[in-house]
Amino acid sequence: MSDRLKVCFTIDMEPDCPPYLSTGFRGVEEGLPSLLKLLDEEQVKGTFFTTGEVAAKYPASVEKIVSQEHELGCHGVSHQDFTRMDQGTAEKEIQQSSEALRRFAPVISFRAPYLKFPDHYLNLLESADFKIDSSQAKYKTSYYRNAPETSLKRIPVSVTSSVLRLPHWIRSPYLNALSSPVVLFVHPWEFVDLRKENLRLDCRFKTGDVALNCLRSVLTFFKEKNAEFFKIQDLLN
Ligand SMILES: [Zn+2]
Repeated sequence: MSDRLKVCFTIDMEPDCPPYLSTGFRGVEEGLPSLLKLLDEEQVKGTFFTTGEVAAKYPASVEKIVSQEHELGCHGVSHQDFTRMDQGTAEKEIQQSSEALRRFAPVISFRAPYLKFPDHYLNLLESADFKIDSSQAKYKTSYYRNAPETSLKRIPVSVTSSVLRLPHWIRSPYLNALSSPVVLFVHPWEFVDLRKENLRLDCRFKTGDVALNCLRSVLTFFKEKNAEFFKIQDLLN
């Protein structure tokens, strides 16, 4: 691979703003179509970490993601926190979600809900034939604590999603400082107008069309830096 800056654009396909609005899927219904259109216009292929529940409820949406040549990744069954699961439950969760998603496409990349995954469950991902774990975050101290032995390639996210919606004069210096590979993530519910919902500020501010415009300028920002876009699975080698 060249020494151009590498950027992975990733999307967590889940219920709206969990755990605050976990009953609805307006993100999948209303946010995803605009997001897919934008990615198509910008010619960016992304990685969609999808819950088994979304795949069961919205098979046509998952088919559309796959048909547009994006990568399908696994995000658990119904967005439960793996740090609160016993071994048996975690095993079942990984089994069920990977089975549900592999009906649509090969799935080798995993991301835990809330970016929280216990090191001692990494072997469960290995036995379920995952090759990549993207559950860590470079902006969390836990990322720097330990590096357990695993055959999985670990590709941490670089920056939390709400940063992408900050004004460009705050956002750009922040994005400039990120090292390659830059892993961005968003959620489809950010592209639905949630400004009047009773949510934590970082979940609702500048959601809807404003978020789409912010995302477009973030992608342009990296293109102007001559970055190359990759799906998570492309970084395996
Ligand atoms: Zn999530």
